[in-house]
Amino acid sequence: IINRCSMEFKSIPDNVGFARVAVAAFASQLDCTLPELEEIKVAVSEAVGNAIIHGYRNKPDKTIKITVTIYKEGLEIKVQDDGIGIADIDLAMQPAYSTDPERMGLGFVFMQSFSDRLQVDSAPGEGTTVTMFK
Ligand code: ATP
Ligand code: MG
Repeated sequence: IINRCSMEFKSIPDNVGFARVAVAAFASQLDCTLPELEEIKVAVSEAVGNAIIHGYRNKPDKTIKITVTIYKEGLEIKVQDDGIGIADIDLAMQPAYSTDPERMGLGFVFMQSFSDRLQVDSAPGEGTTVTMFK
């Protein structure tokens, strides 16, 4: 491990903006291009948004944890919630799938397109951990 940073914050929508900027600032220690930093911001926004909206059903007093690790091999971003969890992970990750008819179901598509490897660990009642590696 070359460097690591972790943070915890409340599950309120304002913190989506905080998280995306904080992770991008840390990741900029790597030689990433501006478009790469933009991709990181989008991926983090989607993961944190999902934790707030789906994991915690917009309850504001929950906690989201992010751990960013810089390895020699690349960057890992982990976004964790202790919310409702996901019953069928493969289904949830399908493009255009959403449990909310008002939404596009594209969050995981953005996370996938940013990541070389995207791992989702989740179970009903046990929360969700999204790990993106680039
Ligand atoms: P969009 O991201 O386009 O606004 P969306 O959030 O529904 O729509 P995805 O981000 O791709 O789409 O997520 C797909 C589905 O996976 C969600 O509708 C939700 O049911 C489930 N999901 C995703 N993240 C979580 C989470 N952290 N906790 C519980 N369920 C989740
Ligand atoms: Mg989403």
